[in-house]
Amino acid sequence: MIDNAEMQPLLDELARQRDSGRIVQFWLRDDDAVEPTEALGRFNTMTREFKVPACLAVIPANTGKELSTYLNNEAHISIAVHGWAHENHAPDNEKKQELGAHRGLSDIVAELSNGFDQLKTRYPDKFTPLLVPPWNRIADSVVNELSNIGYEALSTFGVEKSAPIRMLNTHVDLIDWKGNRGGRSAQALVADLVKAINETSTPIGFLTHHLVHDEAAWQFMERLFKATADNPACRWVSVKDAI
Ligand SMILES: [Zn+2]
Repeated sequence: MIDNAEMQPLLDELARQRDSGRIVQFWLRDDDAVEPTEALGRFNTMTREFKVPACLAVIPANTGKELSTYLNNEAHISIAVHGWAHENHAPDNEKKQELGAHRGLSDIVAELSNGFDQLKTRYPDKFTPLLVPPWNRIADSVVNELSNIGYEALSTFGVEKSAPIRMLNTHVDLIDWKGNRGGRSAQALVADLVKAINETSTPIGFLTHHLVHDEAAWQFMERLFKATADNPACRWVSVKDAI
């Protein structure tokens, strides 16, 4: 049996919002998929069982037919474009970036156009024209080009800033990247969820990385879905509906 005391602040906040007339929307983004793995299987099974629509940010240059065939029957999965090759082009003294201002704009646009076309062709029913920049970072000069390529939305991390394209961000990161690189504590995650609900009126993005999940990460996902999937005070929406 799962102790729900740690989830209670979230349940309380959702109830409060509902009383004031807002049904909170959540959306789920999972990054770095390139091929079928045991972890991806676990992710798909859990989200399918709780009927939580999920958006996989797939790295175009590193993926192929194996993944598209594998995902074919997963009706609840959508596909977004995760940069081009998830390569860092920033110098050592800067934070990692693939889509920063370190290279010619035309080279980056060509990659993002190529990735868009490849995934759209591979996933005719699942493709969403959403760009997810690797490391959640992208230069303004690149953002200005996205609509011309065909992208309809951009997803990074944190409260949405104004941009020349629809923003659909994630706000809560399951993983403790600076610590043990596993799941963060339930207490911290619940606090972040409550904070995000109060800071933004757009769907609250929950960010996962199936390839690095430890047991704590999987368990929190399950607890979150148990607390929210059938909860009338909130709704998990697909990325298409969120855009
Ligand atoms: Zn990534």
